[in-house]
Amino acid sequence: MNCPYCSYHDSKVIDSRDVNEGIRRRRQCLSCSSRFTTYERQQPTSLFVTKKDERREEFSRDKLLAGIRKACEKRPLPTGTVDKLADDIEAELYHLGKAEIPSTVIGDMVMEQLKSLDYIAYIRFASVYREFTDITALKQEVDTLVSTEAKTSLPTTQLPLLPDNKLPEPAKSHRRSRQ
Ligand SMILES: [Zn+2]
Repeated sequence: MNCPYCSYHDSKVIDSRDVNEGIRRRRQCLSCSSRFTTYERQQPTSLFVTKKDERREEFSRDKLLAGIRKACEKRPLPTGTVDKLADDIEAELYHLGKAEIPSTVIGDMVMEQLKSLDYIAYIRFASVYREFTDITALKQEVDTLVSTEAKTSLPTTQLPLLPDNKLPEPAKSHRRSRQ
């Protein structure tokens, strides 16, 4: 890597240590003597998802995208939002540098992202992913959101939770088998 200060092409390593399945190197530029840090990470060629029942399957961006798309169906989100979300999560997963990732970690990431984007999509995703078995659990989640919404100002990107003061209809026909 070239020196970030003077772009000189060569540096010496003054310290190396293993961090999170990668290597952190402290370097010193041979030209200007500035010090900088590089991280080398092993990118797994394939990424596996481990399920609650211990099964493993290869990570599929398409599957991730399908899940997010379903949750965001008919929501007035800007074009490309869903794809970008899937891209971000995929990048984050690879950035973890692990060969295996529990499906729960991925689900939590999606939930976190949807929560800051669109509460309806979040609730839809949560109801499938967390397998809300009754309306009480769903109501609790909505109540939590409403009270959070009342306490904090909404990010500008957030769509209103209750447009026209109408309660959202729970999404119909959830497939239970997802994730
Ligand atoms: Zn330099």
